[in-house]
Amino acid sequence: MTAKNDIETVIKALRNNNFKVEYVETAKYAIPVILDRIPVDASIEMAGSMSVAQLGLRDMLRNRGNKGLDFPKPGEFSFEEMRKNRKDVLLVSTNAVTLDGKLINIDGMGNRVACMFFGVKKVVLLVGANKIVRNVEEALERAQKVIAPYHAKYLGLNTPCASTGECCDCDSPQRICNITTILSKKPPSVDFDIILVGEDLGLGWDPDWPEERIEKIAATYRDEIDKFRASFSPPPEN
Ligand code: SF4
Repeated sequence: MTAKNDIETVIKALRNNNFKVEYVETAKYAIPVILDRIPVDASIEMAGSMSVAQLGLRDMLRNRGNKGLDFPKPGEFSFEEMRKNRKDVLLVSTNAVTLDGKLINIDGMGNRVACMFFGVKKVVLLVGANKIVRNVEEALERAQKVIAPYHAKYLGLNTPCASTGECCDCDSPQRICNITTILSKKPPSVDFDIILVGEDLGLGWDPDWPEERIEKIAATYRDEIDKFRASFSPPPEN
């Protein structure tokens, strides 16, 4: 389990690295904090964050008037559109946060990680306790041994890790780990709020954790991916 003093260490280190941090014990307490941190007239990029999806924040933000929350439909996706339609706020999670307060991310396209350090006015990061790792090495190992293979497999991507469960630094056209970023300190051009939650949220675990904890994280992730897929399903034929 993530130790209480790991959480205290991370909060202190993140603040030392100039990030604003608020800690909440459980995910439900993160919701009002996040709603309060994002202006009601802001457009928001969520970049498919499963942590954010788990809290149902997309509908809450949409219902109160925030814009930009719809996913592009498969086949309607365009880099040009993304460049033109920059959002005000990025609301996502991080792949990992180290005990010395660094944020580690691996991304396929780079839109999520680029916005973390340039391009939006504000970043709001929702981080579950399961994202805490000892150091950068552990973050990268977890990303390549756990997160990317599991994600690739469940998405049905044609990558070696999707079938073997192991990274081989592939050359696949569907490779999902093209860009690795380490934020050592708060980027100067963006306002940065981190909401750290004392519960597991989003995809990420240590293979040595109890099976029950890992399966709970994985099952919640699969549910959110299934909901996402269903939102693009063709209407049933009558
Ligand atoms: S580099 Fe390729 S094989 Fe390795 S985790 Fe990424 S997609 Fe999978």
